[in-house]
Amino acid sequence: MNGDMKEILKKSIKNVKGVGDARAKLFHKLGIFSIEDLITHFPYDYEDRSNIKKICQLTDGESCTFEGIIMSKVTERKIRQGLTLYQAYIKDDTGTIIATWYNQPYIKKVLTVGESYIFYGKIVRGYKTLEVQNPVYEKACKEEHKNTMKIVPVYHATANLTQNTIRTVMQNALELVDGNLEDVLPLWVRKKYCLCDINYAFSNIHFPRNDGDIKNARYRLVFEELFLLQLGLLSVKTVLSDGKEGIAFAPNRKEMVDFINSIGFTLTNAQKRVWEEIEKDMESNRVMNRLVQGDVGSGKTIVAALALAKAVKSGYQGAMMVPTEILAKQHYESLKDIMGKHGINVALLVGSQTKKQRSEILSKIESGEVNIVIGTHALIEEKVKFSKLGLVITDEQHRFGVRQRAMLSNKGINPDILVMTATPIPRTLALILYGDLDISIIDELPPGRKPVKTYAVDNSMRQRINNFIKKQILEGRQAYIICPLVDESDEIEAKSALKTAEKIAKEDFKDFRVGLLHGKMPAGEKEEVMQKFLKGEIDILVSTTVVEVGVNVPNATLMVVENAERFGLAQLHQLRGRVGRGPHQSYCILYNESKSQIAKERMKVMQETTDGFVISEKDLLIRGPGEFFGTRQHGLPDLKIANLYRDMEILKKAQEAAQEILKRDRNLFMEENLKLKEKIAEKFIEKIHDVSLN
Ligand code: ADP
Ligand code: MG
Repeated sequence: MNGDMKEILKKSIKNVKGVGDARAKLFHKLGIFSIEDLITHFPYDYEDRSNIKKICQLTDGESCTFEGIIMSKVTERKIRQGLTLYQAYIKDDTGTIIATWYNQPYIKKVLTVGESYIFYGKIVRGYKTLEVQNPVYEKACKEEHKNTMKIVPVYHATANLTQNTIRTVMQNALELVDGNLEDVLPLWVRKKYCLCDINYAFSNIHFPRNDGDIKNARYRLVFEELFLLQLGLLSVKTVLSDGKEGIAFAPNRKEMVDFINSIGFTLTNAQKRVWEEIEKDMESNRVMNRLVQGDVGSGKTIVAALALAKAVKSGYQGAMMVPTEILAKQHYESLKDIMGKHGINVALLVGSQTKKQRSEILSKIESGEVNIVIGTHALIEEKVKFSKLGLVITDEQHRFGVRQRAMLSNKGINPDILVMTATPIPRTLALILYGDLDISIIDELPPGRKPVKTYAVDNSMRQRINNFIKKQILEGRQAYIICPLVDESDEIEAKSALKTAEKIAKEDFKDFRVGLLHGKMPAGEKEEVMQKFLKGEIDILVSTTVVEVGVNVPNATLMVVENAERFGLAQLHQLRGRVGRGPHQSYCILYNESKSQIAKERMKVMQETTDGFVISEKDLLIRGPGEFFGTRQHGLPDLKIANLYRDMEILKKAQEAAQEILKRDRNLFMEENLKLKEKIAEKFIEKIHDVSLN
């Protein structure tokens, strides 16, 4: 990109005509700071106002454009406190129509009697009346129309920042850069994939003349976005694993078979297959970078344990980082037993340990006396030093960034990396998204699992549900009650959980032992509650979503979710995964108070399937366009225009192009690829930085 243009794009939006301090602040609310942010604030929809109708042709219920002369002075009528109506009669040679505006006193000043205007608004045909509500208007004699007579973009806006303002400002911004945006895509890519010019794309995504323009512009911009994403991911992978000598762990197959025979159950075929893939990676001298994806309950932990054991048996140490203390403790407890049988030392490292405990553990890790450490973020602190770290595992990967993964692996010399995740993203997508990792998928549950029976209910069922919960508890089972998600803050969420717990302990479940768990509790306290629940000393655990991740209490058979409509389906699926882990039939009750069709459809999906992959696919379908896939969760840059689900076809092409370009020019050293390289560095700053840490 030429230097000047790059500078301009980085400049504050205050350099755009029409943006002063006040407006800039409003744009900031939308995450728009620079001129580049502004022009990449793409419309999420368009309104076709190009078709001008005669007044007699206006159809009821539709938004239409028409031209007419103002016949009368605008009248003002107060309807009630805070609601004033402004009306004007408009006519053309075919009829008359009333225009109505609410609370817009300036209308009286701006419309001139006898003058001709173009209007666009919703038409309401009454028995004898014809009305247009809240129309936008522009003088008919104007040379250029901004809000009528054409296809107009619709943007995500915010209070006090109207569509009209955004359009004007956008137009001004585009004028600043028009014709000078440089194409980062090499010519051959543009030709091969029929991509339009970048300047054409920007002006037409915002101000298209017809549907074809929108389509071409969008295709080009989506392609570029996904192409850069792919190229970025693939180059991170190249840098991470290329040319670096990794550890070749011992081919100790026999010993590993003994280990596997000691765990007390038979591996599922999927576990066996994934373990073989890992074993092969570990024995090769290439650095392993592998993602193990498996639905909740598919048995990822034991696969991790095998890898850890193999590392230790080859004379190395292993580390496993998990997102919460509860989970760390749980993995620690279960691994300690399995490993103990083979003389392998396991230690736990979490934030809540005392200084004394910690320094003892740290010195044992450094001396090599501890073979395996399970811990939270505490593991990446500087003081943690390993004697010979050979394998790094992160569990529930979406909670950690690429950066944290890299920080942990830097504690060894090119250790192998294994990432475990239960995020059920459609597999085609996973293969593309996790471009920086090889992927293994555990697509089978251990035998004998009974699918969790799921019911979506509303408040009218509460008494019956409560009786059902009591019955289960009297049979010796335990229950989770998940409190509503609160967007505003963890604080309020914690309070609401507390209230619920107090209420049910006093009322509906006063004869039972009720516990409380939320994110604001001190770690030690959380731990204590979880242990009590695990030991069966609590019957009902009222909790926020902190139990979502990985907790294993096989005796819990009931998962009750309040205001289930507020949760994402993937999240509900994770929550439901907390039950159905033991021999007893389990149940999931989803309280849905929303009457909306979408909420009902979402609940239906939960009732009909327990397959995480199906659920995530359906979720994306139902949420549909506009709502982007949660890329942030995956530590990827935000996508501005592409929709990973709807644009799957373009994504495939973009991936193909990215692979081809790297085949020709692995390090993007060629002249024609320099701009690309720069752009990727910009977009993947965090990742590139991580990589250089290595
Ligand atoms: P997740 O994939 O959700 O992390 P876990 O590793 O916690 O699942 O496994 C869930 C439960 O299934 C654990 O209690 C574990 O001991 C058990 N399990 C795992 N693999 C098998 C298997 N092959 N056969 C029987 N039980 C298994
Ligand atoms: Mg797990």
